[in-house]
Amino acid sequence: MKAFCIAVDLGGSQLRIAKVQKGGQIHWQRSVSTINEGQPSQVIDQIQALVASHPDADIRGIAVAAPGPLDTRNGTVLCIPTLAGWENVAITRLLEERFKLPVLLENDAISAAVGQWRFGVGKDVTDMVYLTVSTGIGGGVISNNHVLRGVRGAAGHFGHLLLYPDSTTQCACGKMGCFEAYASGSALDAIARTLHSAGSQQERTQWHALVGNGPASAIHLAQAAMDGHEPARGVWRQQGVYLAQGIASIVHAFDPACVVLGGGVSKSYSCFADSLLEELDKRLMPAFSNVSIKQASGIETAGLLGVASLFFEHQDCS
Ligand SMILES: [Zn+2]
Repeated sequence: MKAFCIAVDLGGSQLRIAKVQKGGQIHWQRSVSTINEGQPSQVIDQIQALVASHPDADIRGIAVAAPGPLDTRNGTVLCIPTLAGWENVAITRLLEERFKLPVLLENDAISAAVGQWRFGVGKDVTDMVYLTVSTGIGGGVISNNHVLRGVRGAAGHFGHLLLYPDSTTQCACGKMGCFEAYASGSALDAIARTLHSAGSQQERTQWHALVGNGPASAIHLAQAAMDGHEPARGVWRQQGVYLAQGIASIVHAFDPACVVLGGGVSKSYSCFADSLLEELDKRLMPAFSNVSIKQASGIETAGLLGVASLFFEHQDCS
């Protein structure tokens, strides 16, 4: 008999929901803007309404991927900094009460790592690191075909590796010198906002035409670089260097066969691939030099597929 679950990817801006068959087929998928008005119950209502729009009698349970920190053992969201009111929310209990079905909660970066490992570019790889580079930097580790979770279920918070101890650049976590403060999408956005005065007159005019009156962002940096805008290209070269510095530390720690890059910034991989690979070659000990760097596939669905597969695995073991 076919088995299905509802997979939920609870993001700070987007709420994605899909009906996923055991084995990784998505039967339907919906995405809405997450209600961010300080009431987690409104988001629970959103989930219920989306599921109710596709009545199904054959759903085994709900699998939720959420940003953290979480307590996945007792199914509680400890805090979601990008969503107001999400502090100590017992999301597993709330959903179980609504749906009368078992619920599994997992960190979103670990879910995406599992999605890439089981269904994406990391398929058939025994040892893999997934690195998501978007607003922040996070990830997940697959070691000898097992998911590393750590005592808090929070392994893979790579964004807070201390890479620059003398730095006075503050990270979103409040500390100085973190990897994330230099190599995240937020860091790129901040640089983009300063680029209006960089380069030649022609380049400044080009930048202004691209950005208009809106706030500049990493998306503009990618477009400008592809259009040959030299200051933007320089930002991406440096981005590759920063990423390589973090990746080298991660590779030395976990010895993966491949590092999969996901998150919004990874969509601009062609802008920084050369400098990343060049810097990585300098940073890695020779024994690690054959590690491969891969761009994630199916970024929009990897987290849904990953958390669904963890749900079915948990069901099979219980
Ligand atoms: Zn930090």
